[in-house]
Amino acid sequence: MSAPFEATAAWARARDAADPLRAFRDEFLIPPHEHGETHYFCGNSLGLQPRAVKEAIEAELNYWGELGVEGHFKGRLPWMDYHEFVRDHLAEVVGAQPEEVVAMNTLGVNLHLMMVSFYRPTPDRHAILMEAGAFPTDRYALESQIRYHGFSPTLSLIEIEGDEPNGTISMAHIERTLNEHGSRIALVMLPGVQYRTGQAFDLKAITDLAHKHGCTVGFDLAHAVGNLPLQLHDSGADFAIWCSYKYLNSGPGAVGGAFVHARHAKAALPRFAGWWGHDKTTRFQMGPEFVPTPGADGWQLSNPPILALVPMRVSLEIFHRAGMRRLREKSLQLTGYLEWLVRTQLSDVLDIVTPADPERRGAQLSIRVLGGRTQGRSLFDYLTDNGIIGDWREPDVIRISPAPLYNRFADCLAFAEAVRRWHDKR
Ligand SMILES: *Cc1c(COP(=O)(O)O)cnc(C)c1O
Repeated sequence: MSAPFEATAAWARARDAADPLRAFRDEFLIPPHEHGETHYFCGNSLGLQPRAVKEAIEAELNYWGELGVEGHFKGRLPWMDYHEFVRDHLAEVVGAQPEEVVAMNTLGVNLHLMMVSFYRPTPDRHAILMEAGAFPTDRYALESQIRYHGFSPTLSLIEIEGDEPNGTISMAHIERTLNEHGSRIALVMLPGVQYRTGQAFDLKAITDLAHKHGCTVGFDLAHAVGNLPLQLHDSGADFAIWCSYKYLNSGPGAVGGAFVHARHAKAALPRFAGWWGHDKTTRFQMGPEFVPTPGADGWQLSNPPILALVPMRVSLEIFHRAGMRRLREKSLQLTGYLEWLVRTQLSDVLDIVTPADPERRGAQLSIRVLGGRTQGRSLFDYLTDNGIIGDWREPDVIRISPAPLYNRFADCLAFAEAVRRWHDKR
């Protein structure tokens, strides 16, 4: 198969110059390196800072200084309704109705809050299905919820192992597992994109299957949000949670997000309640009885952290202008180029773990270093010293994620050339 790619600086430069999204890179602070800028491939871990964030935070600090408590009602964006200022753009990014999403807390907290409502185990149906090798928080949260309800993780936590060569999971395997265990599974909790392998899952197919077996369905979208154009509402999933500091570029420890499907908007679900989730129209009557605001907003506990929401507001506005469809189109090209470089130039050094089918992955390629951990660490350190920023996953994987908002084809080429230099020196 011939690809429309070339491994030359001239080709990469021309391709970057022809990129309709190229101007977005200038809206970000690219961390400097000795001889210019880093080639930053870590948007799957901490996305870069939009330049406009600093001034936007300063504006809120100024309102606080000038208005004090009045800042809740005055200023360009009164704090009282601040989480609503990110809602429409957030809904766009995840393919939801605005009432279905809320920016609040952090991923781990939201996962627990959602499970309080959506994991309702009974003696006959108490199990949770998740992927083996999940991110620690997810496993800890699920396991502790099972124990909290008086069940045992040994019996109630089903971890589906990868059935494909690189540890990825086929739909057929998910289907088999549901056929076997579906009647005792209360909740199916899977990732949008698996953090270790980079595998993307078909949310709708999984939801349809799991619902057929009577299971509730939730997704952890930590690595999917801002990476893939999601259709959360149409997927039919019951809930989803995510963090916003990865592809969403909302800053270290950013406010997370949650999705609750519209069909649950007014359902009398058990939940852990707080005053900010109370019906907005009567919240300030400060009554003793909790009446939830319909929709995802009804899961809020506290009044939102204004300074922490500012970067998200700025960042989501960038996503709105760029558009998830256009970002995905570029992402397919960019990651396709990285893949092509690895397969055609570096197959003696590297092996790709992430599925080859672009429909089954997002921006990230998880790349195994042939020769094991010592070789892998040596290469990773060499890349870092040379301003090529990816991240390391034990025992031998480097994750490289070109983010279409700020990465260039030239970055992918720089990665490949650095790997070759490292290899040739050895
Ligand atoms: C990044 C990530 C987390 C981190 O959770 P926080 O609560 O934001 O610290 C959890 N789960 C997955 C799958 C992740 O990728």
